[in-house]
Amino acid sequence: MARQRRNRRRLSLEDALDRLAALTERVREDVEARRAFSCEGCDARCCRVGANAMLVTRLETEALLERVATDPALEEHREAIAERVSSTAARLYDEEGPELPTYDCPFLGEDLRCLVHGRGQPLGCVTFMPVRDEFCDHREDEFVEAFEELMAIQAEWLGFEEREGELLPIAVQEAAAE
Ligand code: SF4
Ligand code: SF4
Repeated sequence: MARQRRNRRRLSLEDALDRLAALTERVREDVEARRAFSCEGCDARCCRVGANAMLVTRLETEALLERVATDPALEEHREAIAERVSSTAARLYDEEGPELPTYDCPFLGEDLRCLVHGRGQPLGCVTFMPVRDEFCDHREDEFVEAFEELMAIQAEWLGFEEREGELLPIAVQEAAAE
């Protein structure tokens, strides 16, 4: 049997980020249409220590870095974000154990809104929302489907499959240092 030729053409990071952004917005539209109630007035506990243990993949990490570097609206927040990423990552390095540690997300603004809502927001965040009366959770089906699409885009960019994620502050800290 003839051996299949491997396609070695890789997707550029720029194209991979554009495709991830399109996926993110499609998923957002899909899940937002089924939101049970508004997040308005909530103390964003899903983004904070005690509840938040968000993991991100390598491509999602690049999307966060791109958003922070290119969005003029985030200019005044860049220093504070970098400080929060650094201090939170330092704490999480010490706390890593069998249980995933929780943390205040470095991208949570002082007004308790996500600073990276839109392009760059991780898929796990996009699919976490009020799902029924007084109850918030991941929209599991939408997340699983979107994650597989993310994996396909990321594999085209990296040239190999990498399914594991990393705690967001550690991922951002390490990618920013590269
Ligand atoms: S990226 Fe935004 S939505 Fe996700 S945990 Fe951080 S603040 Fe919350
Ligand atoms: S998803 Fe739930 S916990 Fe998170 S901000 Fe919205 S209402 Fe609050």
